[in-house]
Amino acid sequence: MSRFVFLFCFFQLLNFFSFSQEIHSDFKIACDTNVYLFEEYKDSLPFYEKHFGRNKRINIRDLKLKLAFYVALRHYPELSDVHMNVDLKKISATMMAQPTLGFLFHKQENRRYQIFVNKTQANNGMYYKDLTFNSQVGWIGHEFAHILDYTQKTNKQLLVFISKYISSKKELKKTECEADRVAIRHGLGKQLLEGVNYFYNNNRVSKAYREKKKSYYLSPEQIEIEMAENCD
Ligand SMILES: [Zn+2]
Repeated sequence: MSRFVFLFCFFQLLNFFSFSQEIHSDFKIACDTNVYLFEEYKDSLPFYEKHFGRNKRINIRDLKLKLAFYVALRHYPELSDVHMNVDLKKISATMMAQPTLGFLFHKQENRRYQIFVNKTQANNGMYYKDLTFNSQVGWIGHEFAHILDYTQKTNKQLLVFISKYISSKKELKKTECEADRVAIRHGLGKQLLEGVNYFYNNNRVSKAYREKKKSYYLSPEQIEIEMAENCD
């Protein structure tokens, strides 16, 4: 290796490390965030829409949910430019995130994502309006973790992932637990914990859905362990 090539590689390496340090400092985990209270945010929607509404379309009138979306989004600066729609739909979970249909016809960077929020109280899952504002922030943060994961996958990888997620319970559990961990690493551990605790103690949730959540997502104890390991 010539001296020039060596020096070039050395500076590239130096560059890389200083860059990754910069990235790291952007995502410092401060999990001891205060509990988010709706009262303190209820007048802030115009501010959030102006500064963080780029490529986001929330087709739900509920002010609390809209604000929870933006408060959670501020924990995910990586998603600031990503196209997302949020819609009410009758689904079997409280919320779900997926690429929009026809994603195969778009390039990875132009992909659009969809968050569905269960619209019926009578459904199996947890009704979003029953959750506190703070819990909604955590719940949406979990969906953002899925979207972040999707943005990092090529179309081919996404196809493989979807087929595995649908067909393998092991893959489902791995994906859901990882989404919880990513939300915790984005500073939303407390929010997630509040939602899960409420969920576990809510008799309105069907037993089947409660059991599903217990087997596929992090338990309150596991969330607390993750928080202790990952938070400042
Ligand atoms: Zn999930």
